[in-house]
Amino acid sequence: MKLSTQLLIDGQFVTGDGSAEPILNPATGELIASVPEASFEQVNRAVNGAQRAFAQWSRTTPAQRSTLLLRLADAIERHAEEFAALESLNCGKPYLAVLNDELPAVVDCFRFFAGAARCLQGPLAGEYIEGHTSMIRRDPIGVVGSIAPWNYPLMMAAWKMAPVLAAGNTVVLKPSEQTPLTALRLAELASELFPRGVINIVCGRGESVGAPLVEHPLVRMVSLTGDIATGQKILQSAARTMKRTHLELGGKAPVIIFDDADLEAVVAGIRTFGFYNAGQDCTAACRIYAQGKIYDKFVAAMTDAVASIKVGGPREEGVEMGPLISDRQRNRVASFVERAQSSGHVEVTAGGKIRPGNGFFFEPTLIAHARQEDEIVRREVFGPVVSVTRFSDAEQVVQWANESDYGLASSVWTRDLGLASKVASHLQYGCTWINTHFMLTSEMPHGGMKMSGYGKDLSLYALEDYTVPRHIMVKL
Ligand code: NAD
Repeated sequence: MKLSTQLLIDGQFVTGDGSAEPILNPATGELIASVPEASFEQVNRAVNGAQRAFAQWSRTTPAQRSTLLLRLADAIERHAEEFAALESLNCGKPYLAVLNDELPAVVDCFRFFAGAARCLQGPLAGEYIEGHTSMIRRDPIGVVGSIAPWNYPLMMAAWKMAPVLAAGNTVVLKPSEQTPLTALRLAELASELFPRGVINIVCGRGESVGAPLVEHPLVRMVSLTGDIATGQKILQSAARTMKRTHLELGGKAPVIIFDDADLEAVVAGIRTFGFYNAGQDCTAACRIYAQGKIYDKFVAAMTDAVASIKVGGPREEGVEMGPLISDRQRNRVASFVERAQSSGHVEVTAGGKIRPGNGFFFEPTLIAHARQEDEIVRREVFGPVVSVTRFSDAEQVVQWANESDYGLASSVWTRDLGLASKVASHLQYGCTWINTHFMLTSEMPHGGMKMSGYGKDLSLYALEDYTVPRHIMVKL
């Protein structure tokens, strides 16, 4: 497999001048490649290139931008197997899951924004002051610095690039230092289609490459998908040059299961949505609240279901869950489980341990009898660990679900749709699913409330986020 390790800066592929970042295969712990980071000067060149390109790109018509985005989508689709192979190698994800779940979503994201670019709407032009005509424009913002995490590297690149480009901005994307490979391959395909400087990809760590990108005075907006602490640092730094920010931070999704829920469907749902991508997902169904009468049946059935998840390397037959991204992340997850156990009142009914041998595997884990005040219920683990807490009534569970720093995703499971709708209307989360979880579609917004951040990915709302409404008034 061909590995691209060069950065795309102002239309040119160049080797990073900074220190070399080792890229590991999480399923074996072996070195795959080494990607030299961008130097400060290279980040500066990328931003300057993007700024120069903005002058022309921002004047293209929506139809012209749409055509290129559609071509990029087609190119990704043609190379879907190659992208899936690279992503599963770099992240340890099951190959078929990347090919069948992630790649179609990536392609669809580019296609959606190709269409959406041509469909922005707004208030009517008219005479709101006598003798004056007012009209609204929605214009691009400028150079957008986009910073992505390691859990879905190609999908995050798509979520960040597609609306930014559709709106007429130019972009400097920094993938996670741990998972740059698919973004670098994407850069090769994109560079054959887009004008010089419109898309730039710089790799490296947050402090050495992300920070100078955020601080650069010509970057007019920064979008981050990452940790809350990183979001806070970026906000502080962006304040100095008054940049717009778009922050998709962590989550700790409450999953509310009422007594009348379809037990089989709930168990199958949590088995998938709690452990997909080894739980390294900001919407993972990880904080279960089960009502008194269904609680014991649920814990018993869920324990068996979690124990049956097949863990293994990306190409193993029937594999459902891969390793965590790094040894560090695995140790973090293990220490969450240890601390939960030390409380004395919880019971680890499935998993709970590091899997011996090579790779950064952790067993799919269910922690029963967790209490609302427990760390395992309150903090994001970002691993294959699901907690279960018993609740008595709707009022209590809504209060518990909302008593959280996070506000990204949630779900309610019941056959009573009136109850589900009422609970959904009281939850303070960017999304509430009813009798499902985790399902995203390009047409609908994804994004948080509270410390989970603000700004929407996907949907027309994302396109609006990456544009600025402007008022033009003509004196007649
Ligand atoms: P992270 O915050 O450590 O890193 C994210 C990105 O920010 C990386 O590219 C990193 O290099 C960069 N970065 C770090 N410090 C920086 C700085 N000072 N300046 C500029 N850039 C900096 O997060 P991670 O560990 O890669 O990803 C896991 C986190 O992302 C979890 O908390 C998860 O919940 C969150 N996440 C959120 C969403 C969402 O949609 N809300 C989606 C995926 C992941």
